[in-house]
This record gives sequence, structure tokens and C-alpha cells, in this order.
Amino acid sequence: MDCLFCKIISGEIPSTKVYEDDMLLAFLDINPQAPKHIVIVPKTHIQSANEINGTNLKYVAAIWEKIPQLAKDLSFAENGYRVINNCGSDGGQTVPHLHFHLLGGKQFTDF
Ligand code: 5GP
Ligand code: ZN
Repeated sequence: MDCLFCKIISGEIPSTKVYEDDMLLAFLDINPQAPKHIVIVPKTHIQSANEINGTNLKYVAAIWEKIPQLAKDLSFAENGYRVINNCGSDGGQTVPHLHFHLLGGKQFTDF
């Protein structure tokens, strides 16, 4: 499949991995918007939040279960962080494989 994040998951395109298990991969964003900016993707092709359903919800649950642990490991859990999902063109999604941005290391003042 011609999907950038599927290619990152398969290793065809290199990335700086932060965490990986059988359900998800977390890697550094190539164009960070905060001192610490991780992208977390399910290891199955889900196009966007619009495609989440009862069958693939376990991947989303696995990601959210891991987010606090990643924040602790990256040392910004206590200060706080932001999690963003962009969905579709109005949402600003540029890569059509569901992903969550985990941003930390600064105080966000904008919404
Ligand atoms: P979106 O705009 O779809 O919510 O987020 C896509 C994110 O993927 C962007 O923050 C962008 O910087 C990141 N990105 C795009 N191409 C690559 C890449 O080849 N490697 C990595 N590590 N991140 C990428
Ligand atoms: Zn994909």
C-alpha cells in the first residue's frame, strides 16, 4: 500500500523510533512543533478517525493506554502535554493513516 506511515511501520522508510509493540509504533516527528513531538500510529492501516470502529478500536485503546507511559518516559508527564489528532482536510490531516501527535516540553497557550 502506498502509505507513508505503513512504510515507516514496515521499515521501508526510516524513522527514529521511540517505542514499538505489536499494536503501535511511536517515532519522532520529522518537523517537530514542540521540543518533544512524537507521532503514534496503529500498526494497521486506519485512514483517519472516521474509520475507527468496534473492530479496530483496540489499536486506539492501546495507543491511549501507552500515552501516559510515553509522557513519563520522555519526562514531561508531570508538566503536562498535548495530544492531537487531525482528521481529514479541514482537520489538517496530511498523512492518511490515523495518528496521534504527542507534544511536550513547552507550555501551549493557543488552543
Ligand atoms: P498530520 O499533518 O497528518 O496530522 O501529521 C503528519 C505528520 O507527519 C506531520 O507532523 C509531519 O511532520 C510528519 N511527517 C511527514 N512525513 C514524515 C516522515 O517521513 N517521517 C517522520 N518521522 N514524520 C513525518
Ligand atoms: Zn497506512
